[in-house]
Amino acid sequence: MKRVGVIGGGQLAWMMADAARKLEVELIVQTPSEGDPAVSIAQEVVFAPVDDANATEILAKKCDVITFENEFVNLDALSVLAEQGVCFRPRLEALTPLLDKYHQRRYLSDLGLPVPRFFAVEQTENLKSKIEYLGFPVVLKSRRHGYDGQGTFIIPDFAALEKKLSYETITKTPNQSIFLLEEFVPFERELAIIAARSVDGEIVTYPVVETQQEQQVCRRVIAPAEISPNQVAEIEAIAHTLLNSLQVVGVFGIELFLAADGKVLVNEIAPRTHNSGHFSLDACETSQFEQQLRAVCGLPLGNPGLQCAAAVMVNLLGYENSHSDYQSQRQQIAEIPQAYVHWYGKTESRLGRKLGHVTVLLDNQNREMAMAVAQTIESIWYPS
Ligand code: ADP
Repeated sequence: MKRVGVIGGGQLAWMMADAARKLEVELIVQTPSEGDPAVSIAQEVVFAPVDDANATEILAKKCDVITFENEFVNLDALSVLAEQGVCFRPRLEALTPLLDKYHQRRYLSDLGLPVPRFFAVEQTENLKSKIEYLGFPVVLKSRRHGYDGQGTFIIPDFAALEKKLSYETITKTPNQSIFLLEEFVPFERELAIIAARSVDGEIVTYPVVETQQEQQVCRRVIAPAEISPNQVAEIEAIAHTLLNSLQVVGVFGIELFLAADGKVLVNEIAPRTHNSGHFSLDACETSQFEQQLRAVCGLPLGNPGLQCAAAVMVNLLGYENSHSDYQSQRQQIAEIPQAYVHWYGKTESRLGRKLGHVTVLLDNQNREMAMAVAQTIESIWYPS
């Protein structure tokens, strides 16, 4: 398997470049626009939206296996290709229960994995009685196509919920259940784990990390998370159960909540590499991107362990509309000892857009120290 097709050409595909070179793998990318990050590193590009299955048919002819950096695909249309023998890794059946957040929650709870209490919002039902069971605030989520908090709304009371629902359903799809409601988890911390599973069913997991979101967008990641060995074991077990159950071949990101009472709940599954694993590019022997290529090419998995005591990753998020490449800020950040700046080469900056990230390797696991480093980076990056 030496020619890998990648559906999606954003930064996650772009970050596969070094590993592809190392493993002598060619990357052929399906992505809509000339300016997308992975266009510059791909051997060949099929220019089309990720949900264009006709384009994926063309992609399939150019490669040995197809993997995903973006899961917003048309599974029904792709399954026709799979029946014709196109090899998708992970297989499409591993994505089927995950693309709709309600189906995903159902799948996880059916597996016996801990999730927040939830239900699907149906047009005809009496919401009031169901909400009483969850209590306010409540979290309303679009079942499909949410990312970076788009489509996730924290709702303080019933009036706000009614207003939001009537606005969204009138302006969008009137007769479908397009929302999920779930309890608001007053989490102590948010955590994540990246796990990879090989063709032979071998599983490796990365260190559990702490993720910090602001306005529902990931701002920082601290590796490893300051949690107990039991909690680590519990989260690793969740990863094993999930990847085995779906018979995943590839890399998955699992986002979790750590509640104040120490309980762990699964928030969300990303069926691909994930922002919470970017630290692995600089801090681990085998990055999540190399691991994905190893898994989908049928190679043995690499060592996911940290090569340093700890690391902190900070996203460089857009804070204005601009075409700047922010040379001087990037330069200043790069001067921080043990800092590795990754700049995705996007031609346009917008509020909240992920433009790059920086990972700083640390020589001890002091959380305050990691936070201080993150603070230094953010004070250089964001205008005061
Ligand atoms: P997306 O798919 O857009 O990333 P998520 O479901 O991961 O959406 O939610 C984004 C963020 O919103 C989470 O990282 C968390 O900070 C917050 N959030 C989501 N669901 C809940 C919840 N049930 N309780 C509390 N906070 C939540």
